[in-house]
Amino acid sequence: MSVSGKPPYDPANIFARILRGEIPCQRVDESEHALAFHDIAPQAPVHVLVIPKGDWVSAADFHAGASNAAIAGFWRLVAKVARDLGLEDRGYRLLSNMGEDAGQEVAHFHVHLFGGRRLGRMVP
Ligand code: C5P
Repeated sequence: MSVSGKPPYDPANIFARILRGEIPCQRVDESEHALAFHDIAPQAPVHVLVIPKGDWVSAADFHAGASNAAIAGFWRLVAKVARDLGLEDRGYRLLSNMGEDAGQEVAHFHVHLFGGRRLGRMVP
């Protein structure tokens, strides 16, 4: 971690490349602040990833460092995607892996949105 507290961001990570349009994604929605796309290896009938359009590694540094507009814009897109995909009535799950112990594979902050079936209990 750097002195400023913001972990170093690798601009070559796969989600940065998706944001730059260098590699394709199955886009669900997009706003000024965030992009939503289908996970390439879905774990549920609906498995969407929502990522902010900034250089943030984790939920911690995103919420500590991003502007209020960027944070609100990000969560508004999460809620909009869930609504637009018809998940509000039956419910859905949001999950974000942070760091090694959580098995975070891509070092660009993202939220998984799961739905479309009974998801079962969350256990570590
Ligand atoms: O939270 P974590 O970092 O482990 O999740 C990364 C997610 O990104 C995985 O669910 C993986 O399937 C997804 N992924 C993707 N498109 C890629 C590379 C990874 O949807 N090109």
